[in-house]
Amino acid sequence: MIIEIEKEYVETVEQITNLVRSKKCRPDVLYGDFYTVIAVEGDATQLDTQYIETYPGVVRTWRISSSYKTISRKVIGENSQKVERDRRHVKVPGPDGQIRVFKDSQFIFIAGPCAVESYDHTASIAEGLAKLADKYNIRDRMILRGGAFKPRTRPWDFRGLGEEALDILDKVSENTGLPYVTEVMSITQVDEVASRADMLQIGTRNFQNFNLLEAVGKAGKPILYKRGVAAELEEWLSAAEYIALQGNKDIVLCERGVKSTTHGDYNRSHLDLDVVPAIKDRTILPVIVDPSHSAGIADLVPYQFCGASVFKANGAMVEVITDDIERKSIRCDARQALRLSVYEKLIQFQLESEKIKLDFTEHPLN
Ligand code: PEP
Ligand code: MN
Repeated sequence: MIIEIEKEYVETVEQITNLVRSKKCRPDVLYGDFYTVIAVEGDATQLDTQYIETYPGVVRTWRISSSYKTISRKVIGENSQKVERDRRHVKVPGPDGQIRVFKDSQFIFIAGPCAVESYDHTASIAEGLAKLADKYNIRDRMILRGGAFKPRTRPWDFRGLGEEALDILDKVSENTGLPYVTEVMSITQVDEVASRADMLQIGTRNFQNFNLLEAVGKAGKPILYKRGVAAELEEWLSAAEYIALQGNKDIVLCERGVKSTTHGDYNRSHLDLDVVPAIKDRTILPVIVDPSHSAGIADLVPYQFCGASVFKANGAMVEVITDDIERKSIRCDARQALRLSVYEKLIQFQLESEKIKLDFTEHPLN
């Protein structure tokens, strides 16, 4: 529900926000030039629009029919009035005391192994990343990734070290200062992972696991939420609403490729970069790209990364390995892992491209 109030009726705004809270909803107050708008989040059926319209200064009320109203950028009323909400800045603090912020003017670098395979393997990658972060002065923009619980298409493949991997990630994160993101696959893992990781990942296979989405929405940590392999944008955003409705709007959407006409002959899935500006246009949430799982082959990853950068994604998540490790010794997604020396070139590309301002039309991508 949206409630539009004349700007000078400050007391009415306060009274209505209290009323909204008393009905167990959340008021999102937006201040316009002439009107103040209260966007009610949650189940607004208990609020009587006719009663609210009797408050002094209330111009009109209307109910929103969008299926992702908590995260939508534009709030549009019956008479096509539009109010734009502020973009969400999603903050991920690290053990080094620095905060990584997903926001429009900033590109966040997430990198690390597909799976945590051993302490040495993970530590050497994380140390390499921390070195690059310091060399390029992007420590406050870098996050470590690593899977502890791995969703695998075939049950006999390596499915992650589980709790042992969390111990490794904790230690490596503490030593390097980098915060880490790791996937939760089931409700039973949420409390444990949320008490340790800095950001929780929902993988593509769980994209419509609504109970899990609600559970992570209550966990009090930022969420990296991947698109389902065949998800339409509307389905993806509606599912993100399950997280947001729990009071957690710290959601970063991640495009990772969708099923299309390709079947692994030259890529793993089809990267839909067009979704990046669409998400920015429709929601308040930041969006990043995972070129590793869409490309599936290391040679293709850099080009998709650069594409994500040009499309003004708020960051990219890349699976990396050290330069000296034998590729065939990697137990998970070996083919798509990028050597750190190549990843360094992507950092250079990104930092160089930040100097160029792309602006083609009345519809700039950010
Ligand atoms: C991952 O990032 O570790 C992963 C399993 O990716 P996805 O869910 O996109 O397949
Ligand atoms: Mn992987």
